[in-house]
Amino acid sequence: MAEIRVENLRKQFGDFTAVEDSSFTVHDGEFLALLGPSGCGKTTTLRMIAGLELPTSGKILLDDEDVTFNRASARDIAFVFQLFALYPHMNVRKNIGFPLLSQGVAKAEIRKRVEETARLLQIGHILDRSVSGLAGGDRQRVALGRAIVRRPKCFLMDEPLGTLDAEFREVMVHELRELHNRIHATTVYVTHDQHEAMAMADKIAVMNHGIIEQYGTPQEVYNRPASMYVADFIGSPPMNFLKFQSGLESGATTIRLGDVPISVPEVHAVREPGELALGVRPEHVRFSDTAPLRGAVYGSEYLGTNQIVSVETAQGMVKARVPADLNFTIGETVGLDLNSDKLSLFDCASGKAVPSSLYAEARHG
Ligand code: ATP
Repeated sequence: MAEIRVENLRKQFGDFTAVEDSSFTVHDGEFLALLGPSGCGKTTTLRMIAGLELPTSGKILLDDEDVTFNRASARDIAFVFQLFALYPHMNVRKNIGFPLLSQGVAKAEIRKRVEETARLLQIGHILDRSVSGLAGGDRQRVALGRAIVRRPKCFLMDEPLGTLDAEFREVMVHELRELHNRIHATTVYVTHDQHEAMAMADKIAVMNHGIIEQYGTPQEVYNRPASMYVADFIGSPPMNFLKFQSGLESGATTIRLGDVPISVPEVHAVREPGELALGVRPEHVRFSDTAPLRGAVYGSEYLGTNQIVSVETAQGMVKARVPADLNFTIGETVGLDLNSDKLSLFDCASGKAVPSSLYAEARHG
């Protein structure tokens, strides 16, 4: 297997910058998700790693070898697309074995590797079936088989589950992660779906307009978002932002939302007066009769195991994830208690997180 290193990668299409100064390393055996909305440069990044697109500048290294200008076929990388075209006139066995046949591998070896791959994907029982009658999930497994059978140095996957219905998608997310646990292939996986990225990846690169806003473990990007963009993109519902005007002193452990004092992780920065946002995840908001932060219940969404209640405060709407059996009435004034250990602060002008003891924990692991 292999390590992929991307250094200051940039791609221009005419005047338009699709990928800007991207640098990251996918360690041997690691699963990286490139996550972001449509048009943020995920596929372009992946295509440059694959050798299907030449970068405008920057470098791509595979196991320390500079492959930036190598052709795709010289990179020993398998690419799995969303709409992977299987050969309809061939059965499953022949579809999986085809890449080996075109490489001139001996028939007995092809047979052995196809059967090994089919066992890994649990599709041994359909090897002699025609691909045309297969359900979506099995077709995707065959497509994966065709990638795995070559034993490439790494896998690049571009929204491979994009065409599956929600139920199958969930099954395949689980299967892909299981497969990764078994073969430990270095993988770069493009998706716009935060659930897929969070469930499968060891590391996530959250992209925005061609820039990697944050690169970290799922826990880091969720618990310590580097920017309001990441905090908003990850989480369902996303992080709440309560805006307020203030300066900040290093060492501060309290901020004031209007006249309400709120304890926060120790601030490690100085800020001139300006607009700030307090960031809080819905699960870190509790109803409390005595809490000084108050608002009126606006609505609720029942989710079975819990419910999301929207509360209108003077600083904006706050969504709270509270027990499903908690009773309240629409319009009722409630107190909101925020878990002070989990709060983020953002500078609204730059959108970046303000350094604090919460983020210092991230740097020290
Ligand atoms: P999607 O999931 O929609 O493909 P993405 O994050 O993968 O989104 P890219 O496909 O990498 O985004 O595209 C990034 C930007 O670059 C888009 O604005 C796209 O229109 C533009 N782009 C991509 N390929 C080309 C091209 N060959 N010529 C001009 N612009 C391009």
